[in-house]
Amino acid sequence: MPDNDPTGLYGLSNLPYGVFTTADAPDHRRIGVRYGDAVVDLGAAATALGSPHAALLTAPTLNPLLAAGRTVWSAVRADLRGWLTERPDELTLLPLSDVTLHLPFEVADYVDFYASEHHATNVGRIFRPDGAPLTPNWKHLPIGYHGRAGTVVVSGTPVVRPQGQRRTPDGPVFGPSQRLDIEAEVGFVVGAPSTLGEPVPQSAFRDHVFGVCLLNDWSARDIQAWEYVPLGPFLGKSFATSVSAWITPLEALDAARCAPPERTHPLLDYLADDTADPGGLDLRITVTLNGTTIAEPPFSAMYWTAPQQLAHMTVNGASLRAGDLFASGTVSGPEPHQRGCLLELTWSGENPVELPDGRRTFLEDGDEVVLTAWAPGPDGSRIGLGEVAGKVCKA
Ligand code: CA
Repeated sequence: MPDNDPTGLYGLSNLPYGVFTTADAPDHRRIGVRYGDAVVDLGAAATALGSPHAALLTAPTLNPLLAAGRTVWSAVRADLRGWLTERPDELTLLPLSDVTLHLPFEVADYVDFYASEHHATNVGRIFRPDGAPLTPNWKHLPIGYHGRAGTVVVSGTPVVRPQGQRRTPDGPVFGPSQRLDIEAEVGFVVGAPSTLGEPVPQSAFRDHVFGVCLLNDWSARDIQAWEYVPLGPFLGKSFATSVSAWITPLEALDAARCAPPERTHPLLDYLADDTADPGGLDLRITVTLNGTTIAEPPFSAMYWTAPQQLAHMTVNGASLRAGDLFASGTVSGPEPHQRGCLLELTWSGENPVELPDGRRTFLEDGDEVVLTAWAPGPDGSRIGLGEVAGKVCKA
């Protein structure tokens, strides 16, 4: 048994959920919970110990558990914590190195926001140097767009360099993207569905959102720059979105809740958060490129919170499904080393990033990007978010 070292990232206060297989049963996907460097076979535990939720926990994806709602999420987590402390000998724990991790849930709809004021300001300055950096709507609503759910992939999946149109002085040409980038983001996984026509207020956030994961929203800046006016991102984004293999339940992040930055503009009622529970999260993200740290974006600096995003994306009556995924948008802080994408870090290629194996403006074939993060947990402990790794392959 791994002990619950308070300085460890995957102790009893964390317990993130994933889906795994083992070499002797490669087609048998099972729900697991990470505990230290081990994986608890949750379905086996629930069956052996007589959990009333065993049917949900022996499913091949998290979706049935997601759909079951907050009361069940809390009960399963409480049971698991009890089993780990009181009946550890009755659990099946597998070494993390012996399992293969899979995309832990079937993604229903995928929405990507644009919630960092620092990121939006920097991108505005780069893409629209002659205009105001923020668009007139930016401080009044969390801007987002619908992405492609079917190309959300689990950490470790190679990312093939996308091909597409880009603009040149001689007109558009077709070929592999020459400005492939990352976006360090945080994803929120929706569990309990909602009813078509009924908006979900910020106050119901914890009833509907199951947990959190790191997310890399790979972006082809040259394709994006040519295609995005007037309808927004399309092929420059839809080729791959990587998520961590572990979904950290919201309950594990209670000690990380924090107030968002001061609001500079009054908000309409459904977005107002001056009296709401704090909707921000203190997540400390690290971005590495081929093993070198290139950025440390602070999630606490995000202007728009996840509860506001949930309220906004349902305010028109759009309903939620179990497995919906919404992402924060690139996480960038106010300092240059806190910028969550190469577009900002290199200022559109003007200031390359220095690595031991050479300079980078955008990603080269063979480059590997890894996002990691931790959050403060109870009693001085730390909560680790599962990493998101991805290596770029030739087109
Ligand atoms: Ca994005």
